[in-house]
Parts: sequence; structure tokens; C-alpha cells
Amino acid sequence: MRKKIVAGNWKMNFGLDETQDLISGLKKINKTSDAEVVIAPPFTNLFSAFEALKNTNISLAAQNMHESEKGAFTGEISAGMLKSIGVNTVILGHSERRAIFGEDENLLTEKVNMALKNDMRIIYCFGEELKDRNYGEHHEVVGKQIANTLYHLDAEAWKHIVLAYEPVWAIGTGETATPDQAQDMHSFVRKEVKHEYGAEVADNLSILYGGSVKPANANEIFSKEDVDGGLIGGASLKAEDFMAIVNAF
Ligand code: PEP
Repeated sequence: MRKKIVAGNWKMNFGLDETQDLISGLKKINKTSDAEVVIAPPFTNLFSAFEALKNTNISLAAQNMHESEKGAFTGEISAGMLKSIGVNTVILGHSERRAIFGEDENLLTEKVNMALKNDMRIIYCFGEELKDRNYGEHHEVVGKQIANTLYHLDAEAWKHIVLAYEPVWAIGTGETATPDQAQDMHSFVRKEVKHEYGAEVADNLSILYGGSVKPANANEIFSKEDVDGGLIGGASLKAEDFMAIVNAF
């Protein structure tokens, strides 16, 4: 049985006090769904978040990491550093990292390999741009994004992979893929993975949807067969909204 997961990507928001406030808010709201809850605060707040989340069922993810073990990479954070403060999950391939910071598939492959070498779980983001969808090339684009960065892995490694389909045109725009568009892409991706690795890997793979998920649309999106959860940006910055999305399962 694959896991349901709702993860909040806080991006570059919040200092220490606001982080503690938001976590206190999350802890006060009853979780009524069986989805795993993950939050990804900025690097500077990960350790205090780790302390604040002890004895809760909320876990942490980093928003990024460097592809090297260690060394002269001023300003960067390694997988080992994250592990040393109790962070075992990392988001890789977010469209903002790809578009703004120029992370290409070669770099992402290195990051994937380094995360796995450190026994981390990866929430791997991918998704087409609007022009790809308008040309009817969205399946092809997404298929390549996954194949080029993940198909060198063996079946065992896929136990550490969570996929997050995030159509670029829906991120932070208020525009959401329709539940049918999400289902169509998730089922396409699961079929591709099945073709490559077989039914066991594909059936156990959690595929999250991300792109302007809100309390008002979460339930309908999550009701789709191949949607196993969400990666939430803007709506993860308010405890009530985020937990309403979690509880939409
Ligand atoms: C994201 O950036 O991963 C995301 C899904 O953002 P938003 O929910 O704000 O569209």
C-alpha cells in the first residue's frame, strides 16, 4: 500500500519566531486523516523545527541540498549536515530550482545519487510548462524529466523516492490543474514507472500533486485514484489552511 503524504514547502519564508508560531499552530489542530505530514522550512529553521516537532507525527524535509559530500562550496548545505540534525527527507527538482537557479538534469541526477547515498528520502518534483501542454507535449516532457534523472536507479532505490507532479503553470499562480488533468498525468507516470520497473515499484510509489492546492480544492484532487497527496506552497504558510488540506484526505 502506498503512503499518503501532504508536504508543505515554506520556500524562503519565516524567521525563527514565525517558524515556532506556525509549528505551534499546526500542533494545536487535530489531524483526522492518515496522511503523513511533512514540512519543509528554510535551512536556518530546520533544527529548531526538529526540536519543536519531537513527539509529534509531523516530519521535516529540506528544500534542497548540494550534490557533493563536503568541501569548498561556500553557502551550500550537504546531505550529511541535514542528516546530522535529524532531517531525512529532501525536496529535489523543484521548478524554482530548475528555472531560477539553473538546475539541470545532470545536476539533479547527482543530487539524487547523493541523497540516496546518505539514505535520504527524496520528494522529486517535475512538471511541464504551459507551452508544453499547449503543444500537447506534456506527457513526453514529464516522461523525459523522470527518465533522465531517475531511471538509472535500481528498484530498491525507488523505496526512497516520492514523486511530486507540479505543472509549472499552476505553481503559485492560483491556477490549479483540474482533478482530471492531475489524474491523467499521475496515471501516465505510474504506467511509465511500471513499464520500467514492474508493478510492485509502481503500485508502492506515492505521487503527490502540487500547484495552488487550497482547502477548497484539495478534497477533489485527493479523491483521484493516482493522487497520493500534495506538495503545498502558499497554503502551507497558514496552520489552519495546511491542516485543512491534510484533513481533506
Ligand atoms: C510549490 O511551490 O511546490 C507549490 C505547489 O506552490 P503553490 O502551492 O503555492 O502553488
